[in-house]
Amino acid sequence: MVLAEGVSKSFGSNLVLKSISLEVQRGEVLCLVGPSGSGKSTFLRCINHLETVNAGRLTVDGVLVGYRQKGDKLYEMHPREAAAQRRDIGMVFQRFNLFPHMTALENVMVAPTLLKKGTKAELKSRAMELLARVGLAERHDYYPAHLSGGQQQRVAIARALAMDPKLMLFDEPTSALDPELVGEVLDVMKGLAESGMTMIVVTHEMGFAREVADKLVFMDGGVVVESGDPAEVLANPKRERTKAFLSKVL
Ligand code: ATP
Ligand code: MG
Repeated sequence: MVLAEGVSKSFGSNLVLKSISLEVQRGEVLCLVGPSGSGKSTFLRCINHLETVNAGRLTVDGVLVGYRQKGDKLYEMHPREAAAQRRDIGMVFQRFNLFPHMTALENVMVAPTLLKKGTKAELKSRAMELLARVGLAERHDYYPAHLSGGQQQRVAIARALAMDPKLMLFDEPTSALDPELVGEVLDVMKGLAESGMTMIVVTHEMGFAREVADKLVFMDGGVVVESGDPAEVLANPKRERTKAFLSKVL
């Protein structure tokens, strides 16, 4: 579903991603971990072309992200085309970014409504289903300010799902939450994984990685230092850098 081949990215002279290659199969969950500044968020942003890349290629479901190929040259897509491509990829951030003046239900309905994905009644019933799926059907008419952080993040997940994405990207979805609210968000993500969604999750929740992920990738300094079966990497890290990082987060 996701194939990165030698993806490099720099900001000015700062080379942030140094030839990242990895693959996520359909239905797989990949957890991406690494120290602050290692390039995790930048890599996620490249996957939906919120960042351009300087070298290498990224495909989602076999389609080149953000670029068109002519001969052996790549040309950047028109922003409108890139935006259309991005709709197939759901993204959930550390901060929930809900629209504060809209209820939970309105937040979930806004994108499909703008894109005229169905009649108002159809979209509403679909949005209610999604809110039920994240355990918030009864709170559909609450405004974000009246929901807890965990509830807001679950609405954000439902909102991303409303576009029927093929792939979900999560960038530290629980790190802004009070500890007692982390579990409810991880449970929703686990359910999503079990339903067969392909997911890339940047997280420091190693329990989640061990239990839910198919693959764990440890990044440091813009390179993939180590990757493999989560239980194996966590129990038996091969590289010193991985060991040092895990000893701090476990
Ligand atoms: P964290 O765990 O703190 O979220 P991260 O692994 O997600 O870190 P990135 O946010 O991808 O790291 O940042 C990697 C590097 O790229 C950092 O040195 C950062 O300063 C730099 N960087 C990220 N975005 C930009 C930008 N828009 N312009 C310039 N530099 C950037
Ligand atoms: Mg980050």
